[in-house]
Amino acid sequence: MENSSVVDALEAAERSFEQAPRNVEEGLDIDDAELIQLRRACRLLAAASCLLDDGYYTVVIESSFVAIERTVQFRLIHDDAISESEVISSHRRLYQRGAEVGLYDDSFADNLAELWNQNRTRTYYRLSIATESQAEAMQSLAQEIHHHLVDGSQVPHECIC
Ligand SMILES: [Zn+2]
Repeated sequence: MENSSVVDALEAAERSFEQAPRNVEEGLDIDDAELIQLRRACRLLAAASCLLDDGYYTVVIESSFVAIERTVQFRLIHDDAISESEVISSHRRLYQRGAEVGLYDDSFADNLAELWNQNRTRTYYRLSIATESQAEAMQSLAQEIHHHLVDGSQVPHECIC
């Protein structure tokens, strides 16, 4: 890379991740692995709500999927179904793991995975652009799943959204 301001910016970004944490995001100043997943989901849902009002539908849809996945990950750790450090990178596999431990049934997991595939495929091939109704539906789905899974845990009071 010949553009030195870009190189400088990359180095500054690298340094920022090496520094001791200061001015951390509200609600995320915690050490517990399951609560980190929970609170990230809470913050994503809160952010999606702001962005929906401003018309950023694509980001709302993406954030809603990530919020759903962080919430499922929270319950998997909470229910001792996976270790704190286990990362399930496949979207379909994560949804399936949720069904395997009884967070919802198999057909719900399949439908979630299908929805994710549909969204990714359509976006990738530019078959559609995000719409307000899709963003609203995804935000509503993410909130419903989040509150259902958080209310069914031992720590519903830890939810901050
Ligand atoms: Zn929450």
